[in-house]
Amino acid sequence: MKKYIFIVLLTVLLTSCVSKAEDSRFKLMTVCTIKLEAKDADNVLEKAFDLISQIEREISVNVESSYISRINQNAGKSGVKVSDDVYNLIRFSKEVSEKVDNAFDISVYPLVKLWGIGTEDERIPEAVEISKILPLIGSADIILGEDNTVFLKKEGMGIDLGAIGKGYITQKLVELFKAENVKNAIIDLGGNIYLYNREGNVGIQTPFADRGQYYTVVKVNNKAVVTSGPYERYFVSDGVLYHHIFDIKTGYPSNSNLLSCTIVSEDALLCDALSTAGFVLGEERLEEIAKIFKVDIKAVNDEGEYLNFYGT
Ligand code: ADP
Ligand code: MG
Repeated sequence: MKKYIFIVLLTVLLTSCVSKAEDSRFKLMTVCTIKLEAKDADNVLEKAFDLISQIEREISVNVESSYISRINQNAGKSGVKVSDDVYNLIRFSKEVSEKVDNAFDISVYPLVKLWGIGTEDERIPEAVEISKILPLIGSADIILGEDNTVFLKKEGMGIDLGAIGKGYITQKLVELFKAENVKNAIIDLGGNIYLYNREGNVGIQTPFADRGQYYTVVKVNNKAVVTSGPYERYFVSDGVLYHHIFDIKTGYPSNSNLLSCTIVSEDALLCDALSTAGFVLGEERLEEIAKIFKVDIKAVNDEGEYLNFYGT
């Protein structure tokens, strides 16, 4: 009996130490919100935002000293030694590319730079400019060497982890939360959502509608919900919309029939890669993607139809 009372008291004491913390900060070129319950929640929240900044410094193309920038600066010249994590991330990206006909391909950077969508320099390039850089794109030419080196075969090649950065960071935040015994959390990196140890409804943005207008909600727990769509970053010229997700086969913004593609799965990194891939591949390939990768997919096509594919 005494032992029982002791255990009850201890449990009460321990759970009463749990506090809540929440903050939104501008990082990863977007608004990142984290909300969590943990022992010393404020401290864990700081660690979480520090981790986001640290990874951003390691993998952003906008940070000159990042691993990725250094790989790009040395394209066609020499391999660059990177951390285990970055090496594995690039290997993962190459493997996914192979399985999705390169609809998702991190060697897209020359196209991202040429079009400059979302930057001051955004413009429609000449067809000849596009045909000149297409041979520089294709992740088969990203060579993973021994000793964690990454080498881009051709000068002018470049890697851009924009399509998976948020998913990767989400995965690392979940690892941190496990290590810190976080009770539960919501991670929202610019609309890439993960619910950690808590069940809840996640709204999926209606394409081109005001932010916060949802066409559906999904109930999840310990899962990521990640959406790609043309409405995130684009410009319109002569009535044509040019957005930031490219089909590397054509060199133009992807022209599938989708307005939005959402992946739901435990694996936040896979969700991010596949939301981009699924968006580029279009409606007719989504059933296959859901089955191969064992994820659930929600999408909206250009006739405004809502589509569901279940792979779990
Ligand atoms: P968001 O950044 O809006 O969440 P995505 O996850 O789909 O959307 O990522 C889009 C970003 O990925 C682009 O801004 C660009 O940096 C990069 N990108 C564009 N097209 C591709 C592609 N086909 N494969 C891989 N990355 C891409
Ligand atoms: Mg993505």
